[in-house]
Amino acid sequence: MPITLLTGFLGAGKTTLLNRVLSGDHGLRIGVLVNDFGAINIDAALVQSVEENTISLTNGCVCCEIRDDLVASIEELLARTDAVDHVILEASGVADPAGIVMTFLDARYAESLRIDSIICLIDAEGIFRDGDDDQLSALKLRQVAFADLVVLNKTDLVTPAHVAVIKDWIDLHMKRIRIVETAHGDAPLEVLLGAGRFDPTRVPPPSSEADCLAGTSFERWSYRAESTFSADSLQRMVKRELPASVYRCKGIVFIADSSQAHALQIVGRRCDLTPLDLGHGPQSTTSEIVAIGRHIDKGHLARLFDTCLTKSSARAD
Ligand SMILES: [Zn+2]
Repeated sequence: MPITLLTGFLGAGKTTLLNRVLSGDHGLRIGVLVNDFGAINIDAALVQSVEENTISLTNGCVCCEIRDDLVASIEELLARTDAVDHVILEASGVADPAGIVMTFLDARYAESLRIDSIICLIDAEGIFRDGDDDQLSALKLRQVAFADLVVLNKTDLVTPAHVAVIKDWIDLHMKRIRIVETAHGDAPLEVLLGAGRFDPTRVPPPSSEADCLAGTSFERWSYRAESTFSADSLQRMVKRELPASVYRCKGIVFIADSSQAHALQIVGRRCDLTPLDLGHGPQSTTSEIVAIGRHIDKGHLARLFDTCLTKSSARAD
C-alpha cells in the first residue's frame, strides 16, 4: 500500500490540501491518518470525508510520543486492504519526519507498505515568522529536508519577491527539491498522489529523539465554551491582543446570529472563520478551541477568548 506523508509547520495548510485531495477526482479509496497536537482532534473534524477510513491520532505527536498508536493504526488500515488503495498521513505541525519515516521503513512493513512521497507544505507568509528562534528554524528545515516535494502554499498572500527569497532559502540548504507554488493548497493531484518520488537512499541521517519539539518545547491549551462568539471581537482580539507566543489556534466555534458551526483558523495575526457542515444527527453547540505555542499564559489566553463571547449563554435555535 502506498503511503503519502504530509508534513509542514503549524498553519501551513495541511488539512486544506488533504481535503482537496480527498474531494478530488482520482477514483482512489484513500485511508487517512490525522495527527493533531491537542486533546481535541479538530483536524479530524475538519477533514471533509470523515468516514470509517479516517483514523484520528490525538493527544500526542506521532513521530515521538504516540508512535505505538501510529503502528496500530497502520496495521488497522493494512488489515483493510480491500477498502483502501492509498494512505495519507497528516503529521502534526511540530513533528520531525525522521521518527515517522523510521516507523514506515520498519522491516515488518517491507512487503506491505511503500512510502510514495513525503510532501512538505510551507506557509509562504509565515515561514520566517519565528526566524529568531533557532529550534523552530531547525525543525522547519528538517521538515523540508525530508520532503521530496515542497508545496509553497499561500503565495497569494505575499509578493513574488518574497517567494523568490523563500526559494533561495530552500536552495541554500538543500539542492534540487521540487517546489510547487500554490494558493489554498491547489496543487495538481497528479503531483500529489501516486508520484512514487520517495527514495530511501536520500533520507537524511537519523538524529536524536530530541529533534521533535512536541513533548518538550511546546505547550498545548484547550478551551470550551457554551456561549456563542462575536466574529468581530474574535478578529479584533487576534489582530491586537493575541500573544505572538501562540503559534496556532484552531477550533470549531459557534457564532452569534448563525445556526451553523464555523471552523476557526488562527495563524499569526490572521483569523479565518468558515462555515462548516458537520453532517447529520444531533449536534453539540459547544465551541472548542485548541492552541499551541511556547510560554503560554493559559489564564490570560482564556480571558482573551472569554472577552469575545456574546453575553447570553443560551443559544437560539
Ligand atoms: Zn514528535
